[in-house]
Amino acid sequence: MSERPKKTQIALIGGGPGGYPAAFLAADRGLNVTLIDNETNPGGVCLYRGCIPSKALLHAARVIAEAKEASNWGIGFSDPVIDIDRLRNWKDNVVQKMTGGLGQLTKHRKIDYIKGHAKFSDKKTLEIRNQNGRELLTFENAIIATGSRPANLPNFSIDSKRILDSTTGLELPDIPKNMLIVGGGYIGLELGTVYAALGTKVSVVEMTSGLMPGVDRDLVLVLSKRLEKIFESIMLDTKVVDMNEEKSGMRVKLEGSKVKSGGQIFDKVLVSVGRRPNSENLGLENTRVKTDPKGFIEVDEQRRTSEPTIFAIGDVAGEPMLAHKATHEGRVAAEVISGHNVAFEPNAIPAVVFTDPEIAWCGLTEENAKIENRPVNIARFPWGASGRATTLDRNDGVTKLIIDPDTERILGVGIVGTGAGELIAEGVLAVEMGANVSDLEMTIHPHPTLSETIMEAAEVFFGESTHVYRPKKSASGKR
Ligand code: FAD
Ligand code: NAD
Repeated sequence: MSERPKKTQIALIGGGPGGYPAAFLAADRGLNVTLIDNETNPGGVCLYRGCIPSKALLHAARVIAEAKEASNWGIGFSDPVIDIDRLRNWKDNVVQKMTGGLGQLTKHRKIDYIKGHAKFSDKKTLEIRNQNGRELLTFENAIIATGSRPANLPNFSIDSKRILDSTTGLELPDIPKNMLIVGGGYIGLELGTVYAALGTKVSVVEMTSGLMPGVDRDLVLVLSKRLEKIFESIMLDTKVVDMNEEKSGMRVKLEGSKVKSGGQIFDKVLVSVGRRPNSENLGLENTRVKTDPKGFIEVDEQRRTSEPTIFAIGDVAGEPMLAHKATHEGRVAAEVISGHNVAFEPNAIPAVVFTDPEIAWCGLTEENAKIENRPVNIARFPWGASGRATTLDRNDGVTKLIIDPDTERILGVGIVGTGAGELIAEGVLAVEMGANVSDLEMTIHPHPTLSETIMEAAEVFFGESTHVYRPKKSASGKR
């Protein structure tokens, strides 16, 4: 241990998509920055065991699915030969390439990168432990960006290789014959899509009455229809009540309407029932930083905690637990520390579920408008009427605009369909810029593209869509 503490202007704890962009921006602004993470390079959950490996595998899944679908167009491929080791290597190389690149960018910016676990010993000092021992670091400001980890199934503490979480599921240990996925949210449906494409018989058990609870039902319906074809079964309103390992697999007893009695045997069980913030083992008790009952660190609009020199961003600072939200918060916190009076106040944080089809939304949803009792107009454009969707043989899509009836402003956008994750960026811009529905309608969109569905949804609002004949009868939306 070095006796004399090192000094830094900003200490970043956690090198995920919250921490590293904040560190980079602070360094670009000329501040002296130290970034601490357990891994050799920055990246966090998103790059090592989240967004990036899952999207690499989802790309592979899409190729497999598309090759099958090509038989509809007179192109036959034989069944894919999956070399699981090479697929795993390819995915790992994607991760390595990106995290290695971040390591280089860290060096170029002259950021002091310390591999280790950081803990506050007081409001100005961190103790960092790693295999070389421990060192102390004093800071003027710190940003906590320690992220989150998978939640466990309450009441089950079975230690078995047959039980996977998102981390071990993404390691792709093998291709199980069958798998039970507990939780029909983001991770369950994305990883279920991957394993189903690789040949696993996937069953999903979801405790609420629908997949992706809280997400617009119009959008989820389109996805559910396709998932019903690729998954072995989807059991809604169903709970795991017992789980035991037997020689042939995990015997899982479920309780719900679609359930066979006596329990079913699964090769693997993937638990994806949410995530918990990493706010423990951080020494927060040695500071004035406060957490809420769920363990999220409480922050103000500038992402400042109740300890004025300490900020918190990303998953550890609350929902939505999304990489781009973490990044934006990180840049806000870095700006505040570098002396700018800015705040985290987005009108729209996009969300994308990278299933096939994808679901994406931003701003106000129809569900939330109902909850808030807020009158809205809805304009839907079904992808059955999209030329581009037809050329792709993917008419399973809907583009939906949520519009303020008085001002005709775009309050929210929801899209389900192939590539929805790319398309939603236009919706985010529309909401952030305060665009009116006529702005979308009058903007020339390139043909033939799926982006035209946004323009045509705006035309639907006025009852004048070129490809959907649905004249407008109500007063709103009249010219
Ligand atoms: P993290 O990425 O969790 O990074 C925190 C880092 O801090 C980690 O490296 C951790 O090791 C380190 N750390 C923790 N404690 C300490 C400590 N005391 N000292 C030092 N280091 C510490 N989001 C999307 O937007 N799009 C997606 O497609 C997407 N896909 C996902 C797929 C999966 C399977 C999972 C699990 C998540 C996915 N997410 C996705 C969510 C996304 O990964 C998170 O929202 C994002 O990583 C949060 O970033 P963060 O910077 O807050 O924390
Ligand atoms: P989630 O909150 O998306 O879904 C969890 C699901 O499990 C919910 O539908 C919930 O009702 C269900 N559930 C909870 N307890 C259950 C139980 N005992 N039995 C059956 N079902 C149960 O959580 P997740 O899928 O674990 O993902 C965690 C978070 O990671 C997401 O909320 C998201 O913020 C982030 N993530 C984002 C992406 C993306 O942006 N594409 C991808 C993966 C993860």
